[in-house]
Amino acid sequence: MQRMRKRTNLLRALLACVLLAAALSPAAPALAEDDEDLEISIIELTEEQNPDESELLWSFPVALDEMVPEYVQLANKHMLLSKDYVPSSLVTAKQRKADKNGVNTNGGVLKATGAAMQLQDVCLEALVAMSEAARADGYNLYLKSAYRSWKTQNTMYYNRLKRNNGKDDGWVSKPGASDHQTGLGCDVVPRSWRDKSMNEKMASAPECQWMAAHCHEFGFILRYPEDKEEVTEINFEPWHMRYVGIPAATYIMENGLCLEEFHDQLNAAIQEFLDWGGDPAIVAPFIQVSAEEE
Ligand SMILES: [Zn+2]
Repeated sequence: MQRMRKRTNLLRALLACVLLAAALSPAAPALAEDDEDLEISIIELTEEQNPDESELLWSFPVALDEMVPEYVQLANKHMLLSKDYVPSSLVTAKQRKADKNGVNTNGGVLKATGAAMQLQDVCLEALVAMSEAARADGYNLYLKSAYRSWKTQNTMYYNRLKRNNGKDDGWVSKPGASDHQTGLGCDVVPRSWRDKSMNEKMASAPECQWMAAHCHEFGFILRYPEDKEEVTEINFEPWHMRYVGIPAATYIMENGLCLEEFHDQLNAAIQEFLDWGGDPAIVAPFIQVSAEEE
């Protein structure tokens, strides 16, 4: 707030100087119109402070206009997605086709299975870009699992419980808690793991190491990092990529965070923004509420 007041005073002083200069200038009458414009624009700057003000009140390292609320949304067992939540922009991933030079001709990805897989359009675009970059470095990435509806997750969860004598072993999320329901989470595996059941040993595959090092450049994060099992309450999954957008992904990966920790920081920044008198409408889309357990 103090910085803002200083800024306002500075603008007032500037306005006074401009008006004084105009009055003293021998060419003042000829410039009268321009001066009026200048005066109006300075007054507008002083009074219409919303963009500047929001910036000053926003202490978080990722700017508000660099994040899309839906892309950074959290899904876990404490922040459940609604049974009815279906991402609006789901598209089906195509099997990659290439010309004789190996150039991708259909915007597809390598698919680990013949199953139909859908992702949000931005996420699929980012996955194609990441896969092509990996390929240029000599690594083939295969899409193994993508969007899962609430209902599919529900079936998977109860099947897992049945097989595991009714015990939740942390391998399959509850319905509403799966990152796959966002349409922004996908399992990406090396060629040698296409048919194997996934486990943390996959992390030593060069493809997974490449993804851990480069995924943020395409807007992805490692959703379930090895050193965050206590926070995510999900076992380490070197294959699970989650799209959040490049600025948020860069911040998360460069600071070694998981999405839960990112949300703790984001929520603290939102609270601070509101405490300082920021416009609630600006941050409202980022405030998530957990769906009732269904
Ligand atoms: Zn996954």
